[in-house]
Parts: sequence; structure tokens; C-alpha cells
Amino acid sequence: MAENIILTCPHCGNKTPMKLLNKFEKVTKYPLKYGEGAHFKDIFEVFECPVCKGFQLYYTHWDTTFYVNNDDIYKHYGRVLFPITEKVFVFRLPSNVRSAYESALKVKNIDDTVCVIALRRTLEMVCKDKGAVKGQLHQKLNQLQQQGILPPLMGDISRVIKDFGNMAAHGDQVNFNKTMLDSMFRFTNKILEYVYILPKQMEDVRQELESLSEETDSQSNSKE
Ligand SMILES: [Zn+2]
Repeated sequence: MAENIILTCPHCGNKTPMKLLNKFEKVTKYPLKYGEGAHFKDIFEVFECPVCKGFQLYYTHWDTTFYVNNDDIYKHYGRVLFPITEKVFVFRLPSNVRSAYESALKVKNIDDTVCVIALRRTLEMVCKDKGAVKGQLHQKLNQLQQQGILPPLMGDISRVIKDFGNMAAHGDQVNFNKTMLDSMFRFTNKILEYVYILPKQMEDVRQELESLSEETDSQSNSKE
């Protein structure tokens, strides 16, 4: 692996070659068909950001059956284990929601005001996607709640969203509080998970259970 791999710093947001501080590699060998052995590698690396001196623990899974170069492995198969940032599995979001959410992620540690605006835009996209198009954002979210697309547990959405908006509008005067921005991310994450991720996970579990019960049925039928 390259020593100075280019990564985005989870602290300051700079995309830059990171300094490798430490590395642990676990190799597992598996027999493969046609006489070739496959090597699996679990790589744990601690990188230091040359800009802010913050560090991240990076995990990469790699095996000899991947036909990609080193840089691509980091881009596609690596993930940050520390610092922990809660984020949604973006591949399950509709493309317009996903691109708005990714814009928010990109500027999370760079520009708080732009980040809040991007989060609001993400929620706007959710409303549009689910057919709520009339009124202010908090009214549209309330509509989704009434339709049962969002759960009643979300409480006073209007209040949260209005505070959201005020923060974005006065962003240049107010000293943004990181904790508040994190709360807004968590709130948006929960909405995305409830609307897009959870139904698909439920569907996956349902299919697994179905195929399992079909197997059991066919086994008990064959015994009769
Ligand atoms: Zn940094």
C-alpha cells in the first residue's frame, strides 16, 4: 500500500496526502476454485492529517480477487473507524436526496452555514420525493407525518425545522455550535433512515424469512 494515501480529513475536511503513523495487517488465506488461493487482507491504519494534526483510524478490506489499483481500494473499500461520524448508507437514497445529503457531508467540517442549508435541502428533496410540495418545509414535513410516511414519534418537527432555518439565515452572525450541527445531522439521518433505509431492511428480512420457510417446507414435504 502507498504510504502517503490521499484521504479526506474527518476533522478539518482537507483532502490531502495523509501521513501513515501506524499499520496492522491481518492476512487470511482461502482456497479458491481452479487451484488458486485467495488472500484476504484486513488492514488497519492510523493516519495523521498534515494540516490539522488530527488522526483517523482507517480500515480497508482487500483481497487478491480485486482487479483494482491501490488508490481505488482506498476510495471504494476503505472506511473511517475513528472518529465516529454517524451517517446514512447513501446508496439506498434516491439520487436527488443523495446528492443533497452528500453536499451536506462534504462541507460538514468546512462551512457550517452551507452545511445547514444543504441539510434543509435534503429534507426538501425528501418531501418532494414523497409528494409533499405545498408550503414551508415544516408544513411539508408535518404533512408527511400526517400521512404516516414519518412516524408520530418525531415530535414537534415544526419547531426543530424553524430553528434550523433561523440558524442558517443568521449563520454569519451566530457562532455555530458543533453540537447543534451534529444534532441536526442526527435528526436528518433519522428521517432518511425511517423513510428510505428501514423499509428496505424490513423487505430484506422478509425475503430471508420467506426463503427460509420455503426451504423448511420443501424439507418437511420431502420427508412425507
Ligand atoms: Zn485535518
